[in-house]
Amino acid sequence: MGKLYLGVDIGGTAVKIGLVTGEGNVVHAAAYRVDFDGYQTPVIDTALFRSRQFLEACEVEPARIEGIGISAAGQIDKNGMVVGTCGSIAGWKDTDVAGAFRSFYRKPVAAANDVDCAILGERWNGAAVGAYKNVVMITIGTGIGGSAIIDGRLLEGADGACGEIGHFSIKKDGLLCSCGNRGCYEMYASMRALVRRVGEADPEFKQRFTDGMAIFKAVAEGNEQIQAVVNLWIDDVCVGLVGFVHTFGPELLLIGGGVSSQKELFMDPLEKRLRSRIMPAFNRGLDILPAKLGNAAGLVGAVSLLAANLPESAEGELSAAG
Ligand SMILES: [Zn+2]
Repeated sequence: MGKLYLGVDIGGTAVKIGLVTGEGNVVHAAAYRVDFDGYQTPVIDTALFRSRQFLEACEVEPARIEGIGISAAGQIDKNGMVVGTCGSIAGWKDTDVAGAFRSFYRKPVAAANDVDCAILGERWNGAAVGAYKNVVMITIGTGIGGSAIIDGRLLEGADGACGEIGHFSIKKDGLLCSCGNRGCYEMYASMRALVRRVGEADPEFKQRFTDGMAIFKAVAEGNEQIQAVVNLWIDDVCVGLVGFVHTFGPELLLIGGGVSSQKELFMDPLEKRLRSRIMPAFNRGLDILPAKLGNAAGLVGAVSLLAANLPESAEGELSAAG
């Protein structure tokens, strides 16, 4: 049997745990709640406890694991410490995520922010495999997360604090965001924003359409009123993406989040609008694709930080691709 790694993806509601091979394939995975008692049990304790339980259930001895890759919510510094969280997970800030796992398992540990791990996972064994040197990924969920690989390297910023792309303003007098700014991109273009906007269109919709699945089902069934709201929402999603493409000049724009599986109702109209607004020089050679790994992207990407046999971002091929 080949190498096995433990991948752990710690979020505000759940911890996802997977056994990942040295090639980046997930062989077992499970998810557990972390908010079951309102965070009275520290999230890190729950994650550690569940990881042991998970390995037992898989009948894998901890000694069999090469190392642990951790993808975690919040700002994670280079030592695997939580240095900022936007206040969303009680008690999470100042947690030594990497240290906790390292001292328990006595194995190599790598930890990074979840959106950064997602793009690394997609590059290792997902939609960004191949000759892409510049990749921008946005994940449309409750909020909007984003990360970028530029010239083959993950864009990190000081202390790993980079890529809060949900919080640049697209409307200077717009809605007040939890970050303190007004008109943030994610206030208009996230899934939560779409649900809010559908609810604002008709009081009756507020009860009926509480998630993206229900909204896209209604569009598929020909609900024109909801279609109109979705169209405006896609316009706002587009506004941000045009900015990212013009800023970073990627060869690949990756769209993550459940909505990216909606080809005809979302990806196709989004791409059409995007292409019509992007400057020709940026359009040439730009691929626009849905992310491939779904929920597993974070834990696969975290393991990629450790896996020694990771290909060197295929840089040789990259120059030939342009
Ligand atoms: Zn904001």
